[in-house]
Amino acid sequence: MRFPDYFKDGRKPIISFEIFPPKTDKAMEILLDELPQLVALHPDYITVTYGAMGSTRERTLEIASLIKNRYGMETACHLTCVGASRTELDEILKRILSAGIQNIVALRGDPPRGEETFIPPPDGYSYANELVDHIRRFERQMGRERIGIAVAGYPEKHPEAPNIEVDIANLKRKVESGSDIIITQLFFDNAFFFSFVKRVRAVGITVPIIPGLMPILSAKQIQRITSMCGSSIPPDLQRELDAAADDDEKANEIGIRQCIRQAQELIRWGAPGIHFYVLNKSTCIRQIMEALRR
Ligand code: FAD
Repeated sequence: MRFPDYFKDGRKPIISFEIFPPKTDKAMEILLDELPQLVALHPDYITVTYGAMGSTRERTLEIASLIKNRYGMETACHLTCVGASRTELDEILKRILSAGIQNIVALRGDPPRGEETFIPPPDGYSYANELVDHIRRFERQMGRERIGIAVAGYPEKHPEAPNIEVDIANLKRKVESGSDIIITQLFFDNAFFFSFVKRVRAVGITVPIIPGLMPILSAKQIQRITSMCGSSIPPDLQRELDAAADDDEKANEIGIRQCIRQAQELIRWGAPGIHFYVLNKSTCIRQIMEALRR
């Protein structure tokens, strides 16, 4: 099934999980143990991120293929513009499609660590909208069925964008290039999402916008992640996390409560689904899914 098919009738919120390809063999073993447990929670699909460079890239396809072909669950490979020429992108796309994967989360990718700006690779692309164009051209040239394409949206704006208006104008390019859905960056205050959806709709974007939520695992971990991606932590939540600075179990409990609260409000509000950044672990998301099903 392709992304847009999930959101056609809007009968129920579509739940997706996002996992990442581990860097080490040990972490890969752990993920392989966790995968059946994640699948058993019955998300509608699982997406697999694409590493900045190197070996984890091979693992994206390996893991996505396993989800699709061993567990029979729908999946999507993330794909970025980092380090790939147009010819290399075609090769990757061919491999993704040969594995039976019908969905791609198309991204630009981050600049390498320590660099401020994104430098496009030789004969590659500078922005995600160009990658979306490339995928649509590729499927036409290959005479393939339409691939499901998701792109990223930023309720608190992308860190490099001068303001939210410019960022949403750039988001519109990605949709006009042919993306089917928008998955958002994580956020901890639903007000950002509600106002983002309003602004996005005001510029004429009509595709489904799926909020992205991340359960907090520890105070340190979430500090590191939010400082990289630019999402903010509301003062009340920050105070709770400060009090659990050295107690991961407590921070985790706070994170699960926060995630359930946000997800319930988003679903009541009418969000078409929730994309959970599950960080390759089934324990937190199991509790969250149980609470949502109740
Ligand atoms: P773009 O949409 O290209 O935007 C990047 C910046 O350029 C923005 O500031 C935007 O306003 C501006 N811009 C966009 N288009 C234009 C244009 N045509 N002209 C001028 N300016 C423009 N990273 C990974 O490495 N691997 C992953 O698997 C991965 N998965 C992710 C999944 C989700 C749901 C999200 C939200 C992020 C993910 N990321 C991933 C992180 C992402 O790669 C970074 O946030 C990256 O910095 C921007 O990617 P993008 O696709 O949003 O870029």
